[in-house]
Order: sequence, then structure tokens, then C-alpha cells
Amino acid sequence: MASECASCGKARRSVGNRITRRGLSKLSGGIGLKTTGITRRTWKLNGRKMRVRTAEGVRNAWICMKCYKAGKYQKV
Ligand SMILES: [Zn+2]
Repeated sequence: MASECASCGKARRSVGNRITRRGLSKLSGGIGLKTTGITRRTWKLNGRKMRVRTAEGVRNAWICMKCYKAGKYQKV
């Protein structure tokens, strides 16, 4: 799949929530945190498309930099 790392299969993009809070936490002596907003956010994997040598031969694949630095793929 083009939307994930060819080695570890991690998705290029994962989604979650960004929560904005206001106030001082109870631990710090406040009355507690109030949630003032929730917005969607994405985490993008550090990676790039490159020509690499795989078991099937030389081909273009999207590789995350974690796998690339670990030496799992050699750039051609
Ligand atoms: Zn990877």
C-alpha cells in the first residue's frame, strides 16, 4: 500500500484529538482544568518515497526514516 511504510507497515498519517484546556490543575492548587476546545489533529510519519532495493528488485517505495536509518533498506 502506498499509504504506509513498506517495511514496518505504519500508516503515513494517524489521527487523534487536540484538547485545549484552561485553568490550574487540582494538583497545582487550582480548581481543576476546564476543557475549552477539542479539534482533530494528525500525526505524520517522517518518511519519503525513494528507490530502494527489495526482495522483488529495485522499486519505488515509501519508507519511514526510522526504518531507513535502521538500515532495513538501501537507497539505489
Ligand atoms: Zn517503517
